[in-house]
Amino acid sequence: MTMTTIFRARRIVTMTGDEPEALAVSGETIAATGSLAELRERFDGAEVVDAGDGVIVPGFNDAHAHLAVAAEDMLHLDLSIDAVSSLAEIAAKLRAELAHTPPGGWLRGSRYDDAKMAEGRVLSRWDLDEISRDHPILVLQVAGHWGVVNSKALELGGIDEATEAPPGGKFGRDGSGRLNGILFEMAIFDFAYPQATHRPQTVAPAATPEDRQRGLGLAMRAFHAAGMTSLTDAMIGPDDIALLQEAQRRGTLTLRVNMLLHFEHYGLLAQRGIRTGSADGRLRLGGIKTFVDGAIGGRTCLMEQPFEGTTDDFGMQTLSDAELRDVVRMVHNDGNRVCTHANGDRAIGKLLDQLEAAQRERPKPHLHHRIEHCSIVNDEILRRMKALGAIAAPFGSYVHYHGGKLLDWYGPERIERMFAHRSFLDHGVAVAGSSDYPCGPYQPLLALQSCVTRTGYDGTPLGLSQRITPSEALALYTTSAAYASDEAGTKGMLAPGYLADFVVLDDDPLTVDPSTLGTLGVRATYLGGAKVWERTA
Ligand SMILES: [Zn+2]
Repeated sequence: MTMTTIFRARRIVTMTGDEPEALAVSGETIAATGSLAELRERFDGAEVVDAGDGVIVPGFNDAHAHLAVAAEDMLHLDLSIDAVSSLAEIAAKLRAELAHTPPGGWLRGSRYDDAKMAEGRVLSRWDLDEISRDHPILVLQVAGHWGVVNSKALELGGIDEATEAPPGGKFGRDGSGRLNGILFEMAIFDFAYPQATHRPQTVAPAATPEDRQRGLGLAMRAFHAAGMTSLTDAMIGPDDIALLQEAQRRGTLTLRVNMLLHFEHYGLLAQRGIRTGSADGRLRLGGIKTFVDGAIGGRTCLMEQPFEGTTDDFGMQTLSDAELRDVVRMVHNDGNRVCTHANGDRAIGKLLDQLEAAQRERPKPHLHHRIEHCSIVNDEILRRMKALGAIAAPFGSYVHYHGGKLLDWYGPERIERMFAHRSFLDHGVAVAGSSDYPCGPYQPLLALQSCVTRTGYDGTPLGLSQRITPSEALALYTTSAAYASDEAGTKGMLAPGYLADFVVLDDDPLTVDPSTLGTLGVRATYLGGAKVWERTA
């Protein structure tokens, strides 16, 4: 017999329009909602968990983050702005780490935020060579699309002045044309991303499976503490699937994960006879991931107008038009969902050309392809997306996280059509909330604050025309994120038959001062009715 537990709180935000006083949970799902008295009578003897003056909302669902990358990142030196504020501090941290790194071993740092360092310049190969010429050193920029390596790492990667960059990648050079150790896109993927490399293995060795299980545990704990119960991992390879499957087998996987398989590994699907949309317990294969352009934070996205302050820098296309056509066509024709990273308006336009052509040739109206990030839009893009039924997964917290720098990079006109939550909603385009962690902060409540206030961490207002209401912002991370992973029937709402994934908050996100949403406390997080995290003290 399944045990039933009744949960009551000051307010329960169900996202259905109903405001019940209590929820009854049996097994992993919600059995009923209603008044406490009603549910007590119906489920005689059920335990009652009273959240007191807490407020229950559906568990947060991040439509685009990088769990597998985080599992690895958590094992490297933390060079985020929470940990360092200057290149000198980065050097000091690396030096301290050097003291207990075996001879020849790699020194790795992650989440380096070049735009916020005190020196106002970018880390280079020469800085890292001063720390060591014997140990290879690799520092990943927070957006994950570029990184900096020292001379030893270049040597191990077989890169010298005469080497040509891999397709879709670029080597940085200094004023005199020498390699400065900065590696862009495919060039850094070949060093650090087993999910996406063209090489038999990455230049920097991947962490051992047991280390990654430990990193995965750390990442999930951090996400639960922020109220997260589901996420889409937007770049998965075979090793990551093995990592998550092993966690599920051990019973330690406490997040529901929608996986986007990197196109590089598309052959796996045919091999295993599976399609996007298939699920195994808490894991599900949501789509096939590919890329058209670079990043917003990395200033490499492909745009119609050049970057602010330049006349000829339109960003980078990382997949040729012909390759993009072939990928979209192949995945679409097989009946699988394609989820394409496209940030800039020119990149999105090129992608829409291919999605429209694929739908025209082989109509599959039920196949809703996703545009990952979809950062810079215009009216034509919005109309075309609506007609296609395409789904947008824009950054939820970039306004807060990048602040006034965005104006320097993109300018005041363009910022009004970036992370365009208001425009997507007004045009009837499905739009889900996402962090792209580790590129942006993972906390969904901070994203709610960012979407509602459109104010940077530094107080700069950025694109106020794109503001949305707290309730619309909450929907991005609950109902809409569930729609974006094709799970709107089981997730995102607290209603009978839905998964009992929910969060207890200190206060009501729909009525608190929106500028305080990011600091709203999370008391406890439940997955399938079981407590997976609780605040202590
Ligand atoms: Zn991403």
